[in-house]
Amino acid sequence: MFVKTASQVEGVTINHKGFAGFTARYLIAKEDGAVHYAMRMMEIEPGGHTSVHSHPEEHEFYFLEGDAALVDEQGVEHAIKPGDCAYTAADEIHQIKNTGITLLKLVCTIPILPGGDGKSSVNSRQVSQ
Ligand SMILES: [Zn+2]
Repeated sequence: MFVKTASQVEGVTINHKGFAGFTARYLIAKEDGAVHYAMRMMEIEPGGHTSVHSHPEEHEFYFLEGDAALVDEQGVEHAIKPGDCAYTAADEIHQIKNTGITLLKLVCTIPILPGGDGKSSVNSRQVSQ
């Protein structure tokens, strides 16, 4: 067992193609001893976003602060507010955008698949910017 404070976990700027204003805090990952699933806190600056992408891992999201849009496979933007949760299935195309004027903070859990570390996705596929 262990306890951590999210604010004390180092933030890692993600500069992969299609990402903007995006910081990840890997709260619980394989390197911490997690075997099957990982928890990350994502912080996205106003105007920031992930790429449009898919990967074999499903996502479970819980939105803590800020306003967001979760973009689905058809490009439809689903408005998100704090307190909302969302799910994307394995290999489902998705994107998250900060649509507000404050920092967007969300928790994102993923399974740790064989070869995965709970940080990066296994075999992530970028669809477009
Ligand atoms: Zn994803």
